[in-house]
Amino acid sequence: MSAALALRLRAVNAAPERPERAYVLYWMTASRRVRWSHALDRAVERARALGRPLVILEALRAGYPHASDRLHRFVLDGMADTAARLEGGPVRYHAYVEPAPGAGKGLLAALAARACLVVTDDWPCFFLPRMLAAAARQVDVRLEAVDGNGLLPLRAADRTFTTARSLRAFLQKVLPAHLAAGPRPDPLARAGLAGPASLPAEVLRRWPAASAALLRGEPTALAALPIDHAVPPAPMRGGWAEAERRLARFVAGPLGRYAVDRDAPGVEGTSRLSPYLHFGHTSAHRVLDAVARAEGWTPARLAGPKGGAREGWWGVSPSAEAFLDQLVTWRELAFNTCARRPDDYDRYDALPAWARETLEAHAGDPRPHLYDLDALEGARTHDPLWNAAQRQLLREGWFHGYLRMLWGKKLLEWSPHPRDALARMAALMDRWSLDGRDPNSYAGYAWVLGRYDRAWPSRPVFGKVRSMSSARTAAKVDVTGYLARYGPA
Ligand SMILES: Cc1cc2nc3c(=O)[nH]c(=O)nc-3n(C[C@H](O)[C@H](O)[C@H](O)COP(=O)(O)OP(=O)(O)OC[C@H]3O[C@@H](n4cnc5c(N)ncnc54)[C@H](O)[C@@H]3O)c2cc1C
Repeated sequence: MSAALALRLRAVNAAPERPERAYVLYWMTASRRVRWSHALDRAVERARALGRPLVILEALRAGYPHASDRLHRFVLDGMADTAARLEGGPVRYHAYVEPAPGAGKGLLAALAARACLVVTDDWPCFFLPRMLAAAARQVDVRLEAVDGNGLLPLRAADRTFTTARSLRAFLQKVLPAHLAAGPRPDPLARAGLAGPASLPAEVLRRWPAASAALLRGEPTALAALPIDHAVPPAPMRGGWAEAERRLARFVAGPLGRYAVDRDAPGVEGTSRLSPYLHFGHTSAHRVLDAVARAEGWTPARLAGPKGGAREGWWGVSPSAEAFLDQLVTWRELAFNTCARRPDDYDRYDALPAWARETLEAHAGDPRPHLYDLDALEGARTHDPLWNAAQRQLLREGWFHGYLRMLWGKKLLEWSPHPRDALARMAALMDRWSLDGRDPNSYAGYAWVLGRYDRAWPSRPVFGKVRSMSSARTAAKVDVTGYLARYGPA
């Protein structure tokens, strides 16, 4: 195993590898793709070394928090892509969709009972760490988790970074050494794998493969599942192929104006790749690769340590520089927090002391507008710009990044206590947003409440936490078209 992979890989249990068994099992839980994946690289490497076929299990639970037609359809699109990619090849792909909460219990252990080892993804938040710990108790064979989350292996960071600048300074020193160790673009091409493996009939009977109708996301198939049907599928389709289309469109157009357009809600100036990154339908390595090709960039163009300064490190155009700072610095800051604070990354009490103190000092300030969750969810506030942002979230399962900041700041202003604001951000985003339940989600909510930021001149309600207002936003960026587009239905 290479030193680079060793940093990304950990054994989750103490059971041994069992080379005499039938296949290597890759349990795909976060990097839901068969390209640019460290975990798949590892599974292929072991399958080849052991001379065994590879089986991929991708499951979709019915009982996880916020399971809905929207989230299911997006994940199913990805499963359909993967099934199409693997059809007719040596890798056996088992896509399983739970018909009822808990029905999938036992499937992993049943498949693992015939596996030489199980490789899976290491993802630092939501219910996945708990699910992984439970799996480690259920399988009788070595279970390895591979961190394929970002350009920097999570364990390469020596501390919890509290600002983007401090992480950027660290990245400027250490990232170049990791860039050469990316995953393979197509680990299954000419992999020389044996197979396909056959799966036991009793396993297939009890946990049958997802039907073609489900993989197509047909409304009747979704309607039969015990998930939240009040959250309908979003217009955005999921899957690797759709992520590739969006990425190609972005680098060919909006990337060139990203530094100018990214804050303009009326313009499609950002990549809209966050749902694909969240579900692992694309990866940060793949996105960097596409940007690098568009810019004719190689790591030799990196400027060397700049003390965390944002401009001029990557050695690309200012727009690509601004984009990579979001994709790498800000995204990996969020992963760093989740990985290093597994018990409280999403808690109010984990906010920086200065932020909690100032928010508490202003918790009793008069709040001219207070809304309950129902009014907020239904976009029924006095503020047309906030309502428009909320409507975009409800309709499209995604909304504009600049408006997310305003949206969160207003929730702080309109909630009885900052704790309620945090709970409401999570309740609304986790339910409606394709990219919710992600390290970036918790980072975004915490940023609203002061994390990663500095103290500002004190104001009512916010204290020294940065405030934002719809009027100032409307003066800064043109929101006319946006308001028209996301007006009341
Ligand atoms: C209150 C609030 C809630 C948020 N909730 C989420 C969420 O649930 N899921 C989510 O992925 N992001 C969240 N963000 C961060 C950011 O707004 C989105 O990642 C971004 O708007 C997604 O759009 P895009 O893919 O077009 O981004 P682009 O501008 O094209 O950026 C490319 C990628 O960089 C990353 N990125 C961009 N901005 C940030 C940021 N501020 N912090 C961390 N990573 C970033 C994302 O992975 C994004 O897909 C939130 C921000 C705030 C203030």
